Amino acid sequence: MDEKIITSIVCPGCGCLCDDIDVQLSGGSIVQINNVCSWGIGRFVDRKKFANKKERKRPDGHYTRINGARKSVPLDEACQLAADVIRAAKRVLIYGLCQSGNRAQARIYRLGKKLGATFIPSEGPLVTMFLEQFKQNGLSLCTLEDVRNRADVVVFWGANPIHSCPRLVSRYALFARGRFTERGEEDRKAFIIDLHPTELTKVCNEAILKDGDDLALLRALRTLLNGEKPEEYGTVKPKQARELAKALEEGLYIAFFCGRGPFYGNDGKKFLKEMVDLVAYLNEKANCVLLPLATDFNTMGFYHTILRDGDCDVLGKSLMYDVRDWKPRKGDVVIGLGSDFIWFLSDEQKVRMRTKDVKVISISSYETLTHVNCTVALSCAMAGIEVDDLAYRLDSLPVKLKGIRKPMLPADWEILERLETSLKI
Ligand code: SF4
Repeated sequence: MDEKIITSIVCPGCGCLCDDIDVQLSGGSIVQINNVCSWGIGRFVDRKKFANKKERKRPDGHYTRINGARKSVPLDEACQLAADVIRAAKRVLIYGLCQSGNRAQARIYRLGKKLGATFIPSEGPLVTMFLEQFKQNGLSLCTLEDVRNRADVVVFWGANPIHSCPRLVSRYALFARGRFTERGEEDRKAFIIDLHPTELTKVCNEAILKDGDDLALLRALRTLLNGEKPEEYGTVKPKQARELAKALEEGLYIAFFCGRGPFYGNDGKKFLKEMVDLVAYLNEKANCVLLPLATDFNTMGFYHTILRDGDCDVLGKSLMYDVRDWKPRKGDVVIGLGSDFIWFLSDEQKVRMRTKDVKVISISSYETLTHVNCTVALSCAMAGIEVDDLAYRLDSLPVKLKGIRKPMLPADWEILERLETSLKI
């Protein structure tokens, strides 16, 4: 049987895009993977992310619905049917976008612009807000290698990397030994700020638990850094806030990783603005960076596509922050790219979808709830496992994805090209 070992390939399992994965193939199937975390294993061998023993079903073709029943159709016919659905739409929404290679992102962005569509990136609640701040206040980014080599203070704010980018802590941010952090975690002060104790609570120097009042803590830190006494600390113990402020004061290279946590309340925008101000303030004395901790493997790729286009106005006009803000109405057509968008809807939205007869076109590598129940299902190969593509790491570094397994289905970007041809736009 044909045996092959491929070394140092990229895992498209999350925004870390680990590039040290070794894979052994036998007869075209993956039989061994080294260096990968359990999420990555799921990605490479079609298992569920949080339950590796369970198979994650893949579609074997393209489908439409006739009188409610699912019917298999050839790709060209499926694209034609999808084009008919889109032509009849009063409003087109495109959801997902962050779990696909950059080729597909570029094509769907071009298509969406022609259709006047609204884009709803799955990581929008976190990254769209960051991008708006970057637009106004500039960037304070760095590579993950910089974090590994130089960061002596690391703060995970409303972000649990174990549940978003599992190997971030071992490869870069906490345990990793770098050029100026040779003793790994002993050379770093790490803080986690979260609502509940997490896996990292045990290994971080300090865990500050609070009750959703991120803004109060942020303001207390700023006051402490100014050498004054805060009037309030929110629900945080003053001693914990003082220790964090001291670490920020003394740190030579401070890395903040920010998750969705602080953005859930109404103060999300205010929090981010003041966070960016704090980072700018700390940068006057030391190096300080702020990275959004997005989970989906190519979140930054979609935002790069927008920025490359030079049409930042799309941020204001055509981006919806969160799919939960969507109020389904008659004539809506949703195109889901690499996402199981029905899974993220509220019960009220699902009911409205049914009563307003919203049509869904799904482009997916998996038999998700959305893919199985949609109007037209266009099934595609997996970027980085079955077909080559490009993705942007969570620090915006572009990396090449390599197809190592023979694809049974076309790439998502090929499907999108055919769809655009069928639409004749
Ligand atoms: S951390 Fe992410 S990219 Fe790295 S192996 Fe795990 S799933 Fe793959």
